[in-house]
Amino acid sequence: MYDPKSLCADKFIDDAEIKETLAYADANKDNIELIDSILKKARPYKTDKGTFCRGLNHREASVLLACEIPEKVQEMYALAEEIKKAFYGNRIVMFAPLYLSNYCVNGCLYCPYHMKNKHIARKKLTQEEVEKEVIALQDMGHKRLAIEAGEDPVNNPIEYILECINTIYSIKHKNGAIRRVNVNIAATTVENYRKLKDAGIGTYILFQETYHKESYLRLHPTGPKHDYNYHTEAMDRAMEGGIDDVGLGVLFGLELYRYEFAGLLMHAEHLEAVHGVGPHTISVPRVKKADDIDPSQFDNGISDETFAKICALIRIAVPYTGMIISTRESQSVREKVIRLGVSQISGASRTSVGGYTEELRPHDTEQFDVSDQRTLNEVVEWLMEMGYIPSFCTACYREGRTGDRFMSLCKSGQIQNCCHPNALMTLKEFLMDYASPHTHEIGDALIAKEIENIPNPKVREIVIKNLKEIAEGKRDFRF
Ligand code: SAM
Repeated sequence: MYDPKSLCADKFIDDAEIKETLAYADANKDNIELIDSILKKARPYKTDKGTFCRGLNHREASVLLACEIPEKVQEMYALAEEIKKAFYGNRIVMFAPLYLSNYCVNGCLYCPYHMKNKHIARKKLTQEEVEKEVIALQDMGHKRLAIEAGEDPVNNPIEYILECINTIYSIKHKNGAIRRVNVNIAATTVENYRKLKDAGIGTYILFQETYHKESYLRLHPTGPKHDYNYHTEAMDRAMEGGIDDVGLGVLFGLELYRYEFAGLLMHAEHLEAVHGVGPHTISVPRVKKADDIDPSQFDNGISDETFAKICALIRIAVPYTGMIISTRESQSVREKVIRLGVSQISGASRTSVGGYTEELRPHDTEQFDVSDQRTLNEVVEWLMEMGYIPSFCTACYREGRTGDRFMSLCKSGQIQNCCHPNALMTLKEFLMDYASPHTHEIGDALIAKEIENIPNPKVREIVIKNLKEIAEGKRDFRF
């Protein structure tokens, strides 16, 4: 029986509930009256305290996903854009993945790091190599990383991950600093999540891959990741261990997207029901070609159009949850979904172990092919030319604004007095330290224009003063 408050994966991701949801969505996909009422519920509304959104539950959002009436789909896109603007403005947060080790004991059928892959080079960074990678990332201008590792209790035990986090935070090279380390490692114990929390991590990210239990068991035939319930209940253990920013994700292409979409939203509803706070982020990776992996062996690939619709509907359904897109996607797909709701993107990523210190992009230990291969300076310039503010901000968790405290910032309407100035100040740091002269020029013009959009005059004054000090060499201002 479906129970969002249960701590058992089979109950909060109840297969029967998903199937009923999909049948309900099919039955109502042309029900204009219902669709209009769902769209109306999702619209931002204003009170004297700011702008708010109600979001949608998995049933309502699934009806919109099933609906193919062109005018209604256009309305969904317009609404997603409106919500995106209301809560995220034109800021796009930047990050890069850092691959620590590709040793793995799992048998995931879509991942080239699977244990049976005998020809992929196995590599694990030493602390000296971590340092070199971090310096290379700092020299590009990155401030926020997502560390990635295969699951291998012998080669990559939690102690290794903790040591790497410690090394990453300790490196100060020129004006560089990694100020937030998000962690994407396999499901683990409450005790280990507590250790990660104590090491000062930002978000704990774990992709569900697929919410369809039967497919999950088939796609993960061997290794600890085979345990569907242990994997699906990981976020509850993470929260029990004190991590209150968690990132969900589905690997699109493995199962029917409508099933995954409903499961993803049910997972978000479960976290909200049990812990009082939904996911901090949702990632939307699609299966990519990789070493011995051919994406066409999975039958559920989705078109760019469907992908965009999913992104728009996630934005509408969970307006306060950040959405992440990686360099798995091309520049043109990224352009489209950034407009519709994505709030965080990676730039200049290398998905191989030790890839950042190599002159040329290495492929021997790569996890998947990268579509967007531009430099960080190019990505920053591209974003600014489209009117976005690339943000290197990491202030929230450093100021203790995690979990529900972050959500209340979103809901209080203070984002424009907090995230917006932080974006401008961290962009200025990037321009001073890492940008090309042309990017610097575009950036300074953008900042000058965007200062005017800080509503509180006192905050505006402080920002102007801080920007001047950044130009003189000071760093790390934040609200
Ligand atoms: N090993 C960890 C785990 O078990 O969750 C996480 C790290 S793994 C390096 C990060 C993610 O990459 C996986 O969760 C999976 O969704 C994604 N991934 C694996 N193979 C992929 C492929 N061929 N194309 C795109 N993404 C892939």
